[in-house]
Amino acid sequence: MTSKLVDQLINDNLVPLKPYESARRLFSGGQDWLNANESPFANPYDVDSGNFNRYPSCQPGNVINAYAAYAGVDKSQLIVTRGADEGIELLIRTFCTPGEDSVLICPPTYGMYAISAETCNVGIKRVPLKNDFSLDVDGICATGNVNVVFICAPNNPTGTQVDRADLTRVLEHFANSALVVVDEAYIEFDADNSWAAQLAQYPNLVILRTLSKAFALAGLRCGFTLASEDIIQALLKVIAPYPIPEPVAQIVAQALNPDNIERMRQQVTFLNDQRDALQQALAQRPGVELVGDAKANFILFRHAQSAQIMQYLVSQGMLIRDQSKQMNLQHCLRVTVGSAEQNQRLLSFLDTYFEQAGASS
Ligand SMILES: *Cc1c(COP(=O)(O)O)cnc(C)c1O
Repeated sequence: MTSKLVDQLINDNLVPLKPYESARRLFSGGQDWLNANESPFANPYDVDSGNFNRYPSCQPGNVINAYAAYAGVDKSQLIVTRGADEGIELLIRTFCTPGEDSVLICPPTYGMYAISAETCNVGIKRVPLKNDFSLDVDGICATGNVNVVFICAPNNPTGTQVDRADLTRVLEHFANSALVVVDEAYIEFDADNSWAAQLAQYPNLVILRTLSKAFALAGLRCGFTLASEDIIQALLKVIAPYPIPEPVAQIVAQALNPDNIERMRQQVTFLNDQRDALQQALAQRPGVELVGDAKANFILFRHAQSAQIMQYLVSQGMLIRDQSKQMNLQHCLRVTVGSAEQNQRLLSFLDTYFEQAGASS
């Protein structure tokens, strides 16, 4: 029961919203977490409590310098945030006036662009991906009056990369009217396709990055927004004074040292190999149709019995993500590539399911 006072005071745009159904909120039990595109690796770090009595730096210098070096940009071209999710919200809060302006998204895609827009009372214009999940560039360019365009590359949950000529057309079309945000949350799994080197060429280009996926630090909540210095300066007006807790800054600085970047790259190589093997194995299961591509650390597939498969896997503590409610993804499930043991376990659960389903039909 909501109180009368809350009903009376809550912002109108929030009334229809529900809390985001993150992978974590949907299921609390389970032993195999293949539903949030997390890394299976839990790498060790040290923390020094010597400064915990002090407020942290807003933009810790060692974190900024280390990520700038890693991404190949100048330190004036990035801001560190509480996950890439905070970067999405900062962009909307900084560049969209509530009740007036709109963002453009291309579904099926990552859910937080729409959620942040809704909570900020900013409009959403949707130009769905084409049947092969490529950008509908003509549709995008025909959409007037948006301030921010979100493009996820590789795209979650389709695993598809975005054609560079298509994205170039979008950047050029909006050169004088909107920011084009390329969400590179999974770029380490498709390392040749980053747009970071194009920042100088396109003043309206913004790139989102995170330590939650390839860097195996989802629990830390740390992401980066890369853009021209004037965009970064605008975001710095809006970000909280102490967004990055001191223990987080310490761990991030360690994660970005050369040895640990090398460790991350080895883990990515391992996961990409696992992904290719898992994808082949899935394709051989009865009724499984691979959907999209697999340029990140997850695989999307369609099956007529997706709901029953999902239910069976959950009953076995194997959690994957139901994507069937997303536009054009009816009967689709997404699995994160896990450890070798987890991927094997997923396949054996599926085999047991298919045996039982085959026996009962
Ligand atoms: C996971 C993910 C994010 C969020 O990253 P955080 O840094 O954990 O907030 C952003 N974009 C996409 C496409 C993602 O899949």
